[in-house]
Amino acid sequence: MWSVASPAAARGDLWLRIVAPVLDLPLERSKVEAGAAYGAALLGAVASRTPMTPSRRACGCENASSPDPDWRLAYEEGYNATASSIPPFDPWSIHKRVPGDAAQRPRPLLRCAQALEQPSGHRCWCTSLTSIVVMMEGASDNVVTSRNPATGAIVAETPVSSPEDVTQAVQSARDAFRPWSSLPVEDRAEVLVRFAELVERDRNELAALVVAEVGKLRAEADGEVDWTAASARWYAEHLPGSERRGTAMVIRRPLGVVAAVTPWNSPMITPAWKWLPALVAGNAVVWKPSELSTAIALATVELWREAGLPAGVLELAPGGAETGRMLCAEPSVDAIHFTGSTDTGRAVAGFAAARSARCVLELGGLNSAIVFDDADLEHAADCIVSAAIAVNGQKCTSARRALVERGVEAELLSALTTRIGALRLGDPADPATTLGPLITPAARARADAELERVVGAGAVIVARAPALDEPRLDEAAFFPATVVRGVPLADPLRRRELFAPVLTVESFDRDDEAWEIANETPYGLAAAVYTSSVERAGAAQERLEVGVVGINRRCDSAELEAPFGGAKASGNGFPEGGEYAYSGVTMLKAVYGAQARS
Ligand code: NAD
Repeated sequence: MWSVASPAAARGDLWLRIVAPVLDLPLERSKVEAGAAYGAALLGAVASRTPMTPSRRACGCENASSPDPDWRLAYEEGYNATASSIPPFDPWSIHKRVPGDAAQRPRPLLRCAQALEQPSGHRCWCTSLTSIVVMMEGASDNVVTSRNPATGAIVAETPVSSPEDVTQAVQSARDAFRPWSSLPVEDRAEVLVRFAELVERDRNELAALVVAEVGKLRAEADGEVDWTAASARWYAEHLPGSERRGTAMVIRRPLGVVAAVTPWNSPMITPAWKWLPALVAGNAVVWKPSELSTAIALATVELWREAGLPAGVLELAPGGAETGRMLCAEPSVDAIHFTGSTDTGRAVAGFAAARSARCVLELGGLNSAIVFDDADLEHAADCIVSAAIAVNGQKCTSARRALVERGVEAELLSALTTRIGALRLGDPADPATTLGPLITPAARARADAELERVVGAGAVIVARAPALDEPRLDEAAFFPATVVRGVPLADPLRRRELFAPVLTVESFDRDDEAWEIANETPYGLAAAVYTSSVERAGAAQERLEVGVVGINRRCDSAELEAPFGGAKASGNGFPEGGEYAYSGVTMLKAVYGAQARS
């Protein structure tokens, strides 16, 4: 059985399913109807025990009479069903798509935007921009909720794994590990290729879900989906190999069960860089995705199932911080692979250290872009602003600090101001938008408070993007990109990552001073330098205490074949990326042989 970690799932008596993710997705009509009918049937079942208003008004929503007559029919039929006639339902099947021209496919037309709370505790939502979710009998109210950051609408509510669920998930992974690791590596690689094909098939739907659930711009989301498929193909072609050293044969063996705990900001590619090398090397994985991107996790896991990954080899443990903590504390987990904030990473590392388990940490950054007076300033400004606002300023490698040689400071500030002023804050699904929302209203409140504090401490705002001007969106999470100058040396904004598009500008007079200021933060993830001097470029790669250096390029550069990881508070020295990732998911074994004596 393919499982989401939950005994309730095994009993078949729960809870949430994403029935029709994201309006405007071209879903197969019959699947949408099945999902709608099922959801409605549940409502019908509830209605048979609790008085309800008839059929289409069941949701209490003024738009419930959908303009799509077939959908409405399905809904009404479903509504009229009784508990005993609820059809057998494969919740995963809803995600399947029909191939062909997207424009030719029917679209789900779900216009309700209101949650219906049943007296019995059953719930059904039909939300226009996101999805229908259904909570079924036996549902737990302990759920994590992800919301579209641009609208505030619910995208998914997912039950939180209990301690027993987490233990069971790890046990299932352990049971699956031996048979999976015993397969020829080429067979495992084939599953990765099938996964890549499915990601490519569902490119539009997955990208739309990334936009809806974490607020990435559509072009960024497309890039993330494409990169996920490309990474799967790459790992299928670059298998963990063996080599000769002296008389020994050095082989790589999988570690066993890998716990992968991931953040929301790149909800496909960050986990992909964990599970792809781990799986092809023969490990089993228990994945705790961010509570803010669970719908994407569910959709991705479904593709693995469809690709033929055997049951148990990739287990999903949905939930929040406590679930992550429980998973990392599981005594039989052989390796912890964590991406997230530095504070959380350090907490997680404690679990690994306590039992000498392998631990791979990819953490936060406070990344500098250093501009010398011999640089192409227009190009530097383009690179700095685009790296500051990528993923709406929520990338571990985002540009956070511009360090500029004093003689060109005014010119650079002017170039930055022009670009920041031209940004368009808006709907991340709209191709004209250049800056979307932060992940949550709480993230915006943090950024607002930090800005207010630092201005109170003497800093000056030198540029700010225009505010949101789209009444149909919920402004709660929208934060205009901001450039600040004059931040005092000891200020927290120069010492701690603020995950928002705030760029500080500082000046320097000497090259040595530039390297010193850049290295003053506790982090060591990424940096960029803009110069026409070969000597300065050489010094940058020597002197900057970071894992990624861009020379006349953005500081958030990354390529699949290159190592990706940071120094100091940004990581623990096990990079991801390319074949470097195999060091985090395998152990080396030296095998010495001699001819058998007869
Ligand atoms: P976070 O640390 O709050 O959460 C990351 C994951 O850890 C989530 O799944 C969360 O539920 C889980 N978690 C939270 N507390 C936990 C605990 N005590 N024990 C175990 N698991 C726990 O980070 P976030 O806000 O989701 O992501 C943003 C952070 O991630 C930023 O600091 C960013 O720089 C960093 N990041 C780093 C990289 C990298 O490759 N270096 C990439 C992306 C994001």
